[in-house]
Amino acid sequence: MSGELINGKEIGQSIRNELVERIEKLKKQGIVPGLAVILVGDNAASKTYVSNKQKTCESLGMHSKLLSFESTLTERELIDTIQSLNNDTEINGILVQLPLPKHITESAVLSAISPDKDVDGFHPTNVGKMFLGQETFLPCTPYGVMKLLEHTGIELAGKHAVVVGRSHIVGKPMGQLLLQKDATVTYAHSKTPDLQAITRQADILVVAVGIVNLITADHIKDGAVIIDVGMNRNENNRLCGDVDFASVQPKSSFITPVPGGVGPMTITMLMENTVQSAENKLRQDK
Ligand code: NDP
Repeated sequence: MSGELINGKEIGQSIRNELVERIEKLKKQGIVPGLAVILVGDNAASKTYVSNKQKTCESLGMHSKLLSFESTLTERELIDTIQSLNNDTEINGILVQLPLPKHITESAVLSAISPDKDVDGFHPTNVGKMFLGQETFLPCTPYGVMKLLEHTGIELAGKHAVVVGRSHIVGKPMGQLLLQKDATVTYAHSKTPDLQAITRQADILVVAVGIVNLITADHIKDGAVIIDVGMNRNENNRLCGDVDFASVQPKSSFITPVPGGVGPMTITMLMENTVQSAENKLRQDK
C-alpha cells in the first residue's frame, strides 16, 4: 500500500473558486467582504502569514485591511482598536495574528472581538457553540482538515480518530469536529506515556504538535489516514511537518504532504468564514 496524497493546494483552490462566486453575488448587492488583520510586533513568521492572508483576500476580490503596531502597544490600545473594527461596517472579519507580546493577555483580546466578526473562531461564545455542535465560525485549521477529509471521501463514522496535540486552536477543536462526525476520538499530548501504543490504534491520525519526525512508520497501523498539521523547519531549513513522510507514506492509505496539505486549507477557511460573515450581515440587514 502506498498512501495517496491529499492535495490541499487543489482542494483549497476548488473551495476558493466557489468563494469567488459567492463574493460576486455579494458585490452585486453592494457588499465587498472585508477582513481586518492586526499584527503586533515584528515576528518574521507572523509577517509572512499576514501577508499571505492579505494576498489571498486580494486574489479573491475581497477587501483587506492591515493594522500593524509596534510591540509596545498596550492591551488597552489593542482592545480599543478591535472595538472600532467591531463597529466598522466595511469589515466582516477581524483576525489578531498570534502570538501576541507577553504583556498582552491573549484571552482578553480574543474576547474583545465581536463573535459576529470572529472569523478565526476563537471567541469563547463561538468555541462554546462549536462544542455544542451549533452553527458558528469554526477554527480555520481543524475546519480545513474536515474539508480535506470530506473532499477525499473518507468515512469518519465509527472510525477511531487519534488527535496528537490539544491546543485551543488546533488539537482540541479538531477532536470535537471529528466526534461530531461520529468518529471515536482519542487525544494524545505531551503527558501521554506511550504515544505509539495510542497512535497505532488510529484509523485516522491527526498530528498537531510541532516536532519534526515525531511520527514514524512504527507509530501507525497499515492503511491509516494521516493528517499532518505540523509546520516546522528541518535542519536544512526546509518546511516539514510532524510526520516522517518517507517512512509513513508507504504504510498509509492517504496522507497530507507538508507543504501543500493542511496549510493552504487554513487560509482558505479563513476566507470562507469572512465571506460567511458578510452573508450573515446581509441577511440580518434585510
Ligand atoms: P501548541 O504548541 O499550542 O500545541 C502543541 C501540542 O502538542 C500540545 O498540546 C502539546 O501537549 C503536544 N505535544 C508536545 N510535545 C508532544 C509529544 N512529545 N508528544 C505528544 N504531544 C506533544 O501548537 P499548535 O497546536 O498551535 O500547533 C501545532 C503544530 O501545528 C505546529 O507545528 C504549528 O506550526 C502547526 N500549525 C499549522 C497550521 C497550518 O495551517 N498548517 C496552523 C496552526 C498550527 P501539552 O498540551 O501537554 O503541552
